[in-house]
Amino acid sequence: MKLIKKIAIGAVIANTAAICIIPAKPKENQKKEQVTLELERTINFNNPQKTLNEAFNLCKPENLSEVIYDPDFKRSDDYIKNRFVRHSRRLLGEYIQQARTGSPGHDICVADILEDVGNGKKREAFARKSLIDSRGVLCQEDLESCIYHENIHAGEARYGYDFGDSILKGRELKRLFDRGEIRPQTIIDIGEFDAYAAQLARADNTERKPSIVHKTFTKITVFEIYNKLNANLQVGALSPMERRYFEAKKRKHEKVIETLKTFNSKN
Ligand SMILES: [Zn+2]
Repeated sequence: MKLIKKIAIGAVIANTAAICIIPAKPKENQKKEQVTLELERTINFNNPQKTLNEAFNLCKPENLSEVIYDPDFKRSDDYIKNRFVRHSRRLLGEYIQQARTGSPGHDICVADILEDVGNGKKREAFARKSLIDSRGVLCQEDLESCIYHENIHAGEARYGYDFGDSILKGRELKRLFDRGEIRPQTIIDIGEFDAYAAQLARADNTERKPSIVHKTFTKITVFEIYNKLNANLQVGALSPMERRYFEAKKRKHEKVIETLKTFNSKN
């Protein structure tokens, strides 16, 4: 998870180790309140794969088989090529391009294809070069939190997508996409809400606490995605199936949503 983009929302980067967080919308005539968080980056990536393995063992993500350091996209490209041996070069190219682009703001990604959703298998995750100097990852616990985020995506890929009264797998999902009953970007946004909210819930329940910078950025991200989806829900801009998917996630993350209400009133 890369969070540099999110910093621009309410913060100014002073240098690599110190970040000043300014409230996003200071009221008029109100002196800008500034909280300076002097934080050392304690994690090191001298041997990226070793650092990833250590974080993996501490996080124990039940839906991931491993996290592979893949700075040149070689391993994730190979994974997709192997899945598409008999498919056209054009389709293969599209899938590879999609996997390379990944979700914005992610330093670790699960490369998966729709056809495989619900096959019960653990997924591999691939760490990008940008992880090495990510300012959202300051300590080992932050990296564990990022791996947990991917574990949530991998869980959906492994078992299917939860639409409340039914779990849908590859073929059914493909049919819904083809008919326009669910739209890729909305489904991605709802999946991201789930994964980021799960990170926050985990941060409260684990002994291995992520840094306050990591947690704050995660919260800002959840807040943004949730508000966007909820606004669409209120004006009827979600299709019936998208609404079911979002509402299942809202029920799952009731506690986190409560904390966002407080977060809202403070900002
Ligand atoms: Zn994600």
